[in-house]
Order: sequence, then structure tokens, then C-alpha cells
Amino acid sequence: MLKLTGLSKTYANGVQALADVSLQVPRGMFGLLGPNGAGKSTLMRTIATLQSPDTGSIMLDDLDVLAHPTELRRMLGYLPQEFGAYPRTSPEVMLNHIATLKGIERRSRGELVEQLLVQTNLWDVRRKSIDTFSGGMKQRFGIAQALIGEPSLIIVDEPTAGLDPVERRRFHNLLARISADVVVLLSTHIVDDVADLCPRMAIMGDGRILVEGEPQALVAKLKGRLWSKTVPLDEAPVLRRSLPVVSTRLVGGRVEIRVVAEAEPEGGLEPAEPTLEDVYFATLLGHGLSVELD
Ligand code: ADP
Repeated sequence: MLKLTGLSKTYANGVQALADVSLQVPRGMFGLLGPNGAGKSTLMRTIATLQSPDTGSIMLDDLDVLAHPTELRRMLGYLPQEFGAYPRTSPEVMLNHIATLKGIERRSRGELVEQLLVQTNLWDVRRKSIDTFSGGMKQRFGIAQALIGEPSLIIVDEPTAGLDPVERRRFHNLLARISADVVVLLSTHIVDDVADLCPRMAIMGDGRILVEGEPQALVAKLKGRLWSKTVPLDEAPVLRRSLPVVSTRLVGGRVEIRVVAEAEPEGGLEPAEPTLEDVYFATLLGHGLSVELD
């Protein structure tokens, strides 16, 4: 269990990126969803001990993370948003190298690297140069290196941005497989990543945790309160002004508007089946935060 209590951080430029964040993250996949600028990366980097909060505490089981950053790093697998430059070496060589740095003994290293290459589906390309890999292959390599040393906490920051659907599914399967007895914290602005993968989640906005729980339970709370109507393009702005619209999306050249309301709103709207995306948009709007669509 990862336990965050009262984490706050204000950068030197006056931006408050974390505002009293408290969160309990059990073993398994946990999705942290939020728009750009919500504070997700700041939170990930703080937990990874790459930067310090102004106040607050972080416990990983019995370990006081802020007091013992070196111990945390030994137990951590971190897959950052960007690796920067990718090495012109093969995954086999790199994984061997990282295993050496992480203090894995020589005699178990070969077997470990082989197992990681198979597990992340990189066995066939183990001797190819990493800088020639596709986005999905690079991400899988990222997971392979993060898994060295049997971490008890894995942090994955915005992993599927730029992956094609097949690569994304393969990456999801890999994460689901490794998350059995490890805390895996997945930060993303892609709602489907969380909906597909995470038994627990939180939505972050403006440096705060806005809502937390099981995705299905959060969706269930919108049941009977969601309404939709599909209208021609030019009618959407009119409805937007008169109704509490949570989202709009194009469907076959028309606009589907979705509205959260306790009772059926005026204007011929039909009851709609809520999704996690509705939860996300309704939560952000409920806190006065604007929503950007990809
Ligand atoms: P997210 O990962 O959800 O997009 P970030 O943690 O990157 O959010 O950013 C949260 C806020 O803090 C944003 O307003 C961002 O501009 C600001 N911020 C992030 N890093 C820094 C920094 N090093 N210095 C100043 N402001 C920062």
C-alpha cells in the first residue's frame, strides 16, 4: 500500500502543482486521470523521490519514503513520460547494463534479461538498436528496465500517448500481467486507459484529488442522471448555453451532447448510459475546470 498524506508543492514561479494531496493506493493497477497541468507528473516525480514536496508524507508499506529516498529507489520501477535520447544499443545489452547498475549478481543476470525480453515481447528484436524501435517497442523496453530488481512500486507516466491501437493493447496486457502483487501507479489523460485497466482510480485537477474510487462505482453514480441528444452542428452552441452540457462529440457529422441533470431536462433529451468519460468530464466541470478533448 502506498499512502500519500497532505502533499503540497508550489514551484518557484508561484504555480501550486500539488494542493494537499492525500491518497491511498493499494496493490494492483491504480489510474490517476487528469488533464494537462493537473499536477500528475509533479506527483509521480515526488513519489519517485526525483523532487521534494513542500509538505506532506509518503509511506510505501512501512517505509517513510521522504526520509529514506535511497531505499525507495531500490524498490521502484519508474517509466517516465520521455526517456530523452534512446541508446544506440540493443535491449539485451542495455538490460544487462541496467541490471549490473542495480546490483543484480552476474550469475542471475543472463536469465533475468532473457525472462524480461520474453515477458515484454522483445525477444525477437533483442539484438536490434533501441533507437530504431517503434513507440510501442520503446514503451515495452521501458517496462522491461523498470521491472529489474523486482520493484514493489511501479510508476508509469502517460504511457500510451502516441501508440497505435495494437501497440496500446499489447502494452495494456503487459501492465495487467505485472500488476498482480505490485503497486502500479498509472498516470494518464486518456480515460480509456483507466477504464480498461484499473480496478481503482482517482481524478486529479488543479493540484487536487477531485474524486477517488472504483471506476464502475463512479460510473454507477451517474446512472439515471445522464441525458443525451444528437443535433446538427449549428444547434449545439445554443443547447450549450441553456443546458449543463458535460461533453459534446461528433457522430457522423452531427453533434451528440451529453448532459448531467437529476431530472429530465427540457428539449427532448433521451436517457443515456454513463461511461467513465462522462464521470471524468462531469467531475472536472463540477469543479469549474475546463475540459480539453484530444
Ligand atoms: P500534469 O502532469 O498533470 O500535466 P504537471 O505536474 O506537469 O501536470 O504540472 C502541474 C502544473 O505545474 C502546471 O501548471 C505546470 O505548468 C507547472 N509546473 C510543472 N513543472 C514545473 C516546474 N518545474 N516549474 C514551474 N512550474 C511547473
